[in-house]
Amino acid sequence: MSDPMFDVVVVGAGPAGSAAALTAARAGRSVALVERGPHPGSKNVYGGVVYGRVLDELVPRWWEQMPVQRWVTRRSTMVMTDRQALTVDVRAQAWGGPPYNGATALRADLDGWLADLAQEAGAVLVPSTVATGLLRAADGTVRGVRTDRPDGELSAGVVIACDGVNSFLAKEAGLFGGRTGARHTSLGVKETLALPREVIEERFALRGRDGLDMEILGCTRGIPGGGFLYTNLDSLSVGVVVGLDGLAACGVRPEELLADLKAHPSIAPLVRGAELKEYSAHLLPEGGYDTMPELAGDGILVAGDAAAMCLAAGVWLEGVNFAIGAGMYAGRAAAEALARGDTSRSGLAGYRRLLEDSFVLADHRKLRRAPGLVFSERMQQRYPALLCDLAEEFFRVDNPRPKPGLRRLLRRGAAAHGVRLHHLLSDALTAWRSFG
Ligand SMILES: Cc1cc2nc3c(=O)[nH]c(=O)nc-3n(C[C@H](O)[C@H](O)[C@H](O)COP(=O)(O)OP(=O)(O)OC[C@H]3O[C@@H](n4cnc5c(N)ncnc54)[C@H](O)[C@@H]3O)c2cc1C
Repeated sequence: MSDPMFDVVVVGAGPAGSAAALTAARAGRSVALVERGPHPGSKNVYGGVVYGRVLDELVPRWWEQMPVQRWVTRRSTMVMTDRQALTVDVRAQAWGGPPYNGATALRADLDGWLADLAQEAGAVLVPSTVATGLLRAADGTVRGVRTDRPDGELSAGVVIACDGVNSFLAKEAGLFGGRTGARHTSLGVKETLALPREVIEERFALRGRDGLDMEILGCTRGIPGGGFLYTNLDSLSVGVVVGLDGLAACGVRPEELLADLKAHPSIAPLVRGAELKEYSAHLLPEGGYDTMPELAGDGILVAGDAAAMCLAAGVWLEGVNFAIGAGMYAGRAAAEALARGDTSRSGLAGYRRLLEDSFVLADHRKLRRAPGLVFSERMQQRYPALLCDLAEEFFRVDNPRPKPGLRRLLRRGAAAHGVRLHHLLSDALTAWRSFG
C-alpha cells in the first residue's frame, strides 16, 4: 500500500473522537476527524452533565474556556413510587469554584468546543461525511476508512473508532468477537424545557451559575432504568433512560414514561409552566465492563460508547468523561505506536495499559456488578417503595401512640414488599463490593 494520507483517522467527533484527535495532533501526528453530522454535536444527545477532572489533563484550566451552562453545586438522588419520593440532596459550595466538580453544558456547545481544540492543534475536521467501512491491507490490518463521499477513501496508519453506541467499525473489525450489544443497550429520551433563569434559580434554590444534577430511580414503571433532571441557564433537561429489552416487553412508549415523570407530585412543581423546546432520543450502552469489546486490533483502536465505556449505574449516568479519557489515551497510544513503527495489535496494546492505569477501566471494573444490581427488579421496584414507606412511617407523627422503632418498620416494610433478609444481605454485599 502507498503512504497513508494521514497518520491517524478518527471516526466520530463526539467527546471520545475529539479528545483522540486533539491528543494525536498535539503529539505531532497528521489527523483526520471524520463526522457524519454537519457539525460536531449536531447528531448527539445526552442528559447534560460533564464531570471535569478528566479535562484537567487535556485542557489545563478548562473551566476558563469550556462553554458551561451551570456549575453542579447540588447533587440529588431521588427514589420514588407513584405517590412518594425520598431524596438525598448534597450541596457542596466548594464545587462552585475552581477547579469545579461538574457542569451542565449543551451538547452542541461542548462537542463544538472540543472539536475546535482538536482543529487548533492541527487535526482536519471532515464533517457531513459517513465512514462506511474499513480499508484493509492484504494481511487484514486496518489501513483507513471508506466514506460516503465520491473517491472518499481515507488511508491511515491507525484508525480510532469513536463512532458511538453500535459502532459499525468496531464490529467490522471483529473487536466484538461476534457478540452483539443489543441486549445491553438502553434508550434515553429527553426533553429540553425552557424556563426563565430567575424562575429556575428560585425554584431550585440556586444562585448565580450554581446548578443541580438529579438522578432518579423508580420512575420507569418497573422497566430497568432511571430518570434525570438537570438545570441549564434558562432551561431544564428532563429524561428517562430504559433498557431496550424491558421497554419492548412492557409495550409502553418512552415518551409516556417521560410524561409520567413530569406529572409526578415531586417533579410537576419543578417543571410547571416550562415550554417544550426540544425532544430527542438516543441509544446508550449500559452493560459496562463485561460487555466491552477488545479495545485494539491490527491498525485500529476503539474508544467511548463504541467500546461500551458508558457508566449507567443508577446513581451515576456518566459517559462523556469516560469517552474523553479513553479518547485521550487512544490518541496517545496511537502516536506512540506510530513513533515505534508498530501499529499491530500488540504495538497498540499500550492503549489498554493506559486505560487500566486510569479511572476509565478502574471504575468500570470496580462497578462491573453495578448494572446487574441497579437494573434488578428489587432495586427498580421493591427498594424504592420500601425506602419511601420507611421514611414516610418514620417521619409520621402518630402520638399519642408511641413511636415505632426503625427495626420494626424495616421488618414490616420488607414483608409488605416481598424483600427477604437474604436478598437485603446479598444486595448489600454486591453494593459494598461495587461502591464500597
Ligand atoms: C439520554 C442520555 C443522557 C445521557 N446523559 C449523560 C450525562 O448527563 N453525562 C454523561 O457524561 N453522559 C451522559 N450520557 C452518555 C453520553 O452521551 C455518552 O456516553 C457519550 O456521548 C459518549 O461519547 P462518544 O464520543 O463515545 O460517542 P458519541 O457522543 O455518541 O459520538 C459519536 C460521534 O460519532 C459520529 N458518528 C457515528 N457513526 C459515524 C460514522 N459512521 N461516520 C462518521 N461519524 C460517525 C456521531 O455523529 C457522533 O458525533 C447520556 C446518554 C443519553 C442517551
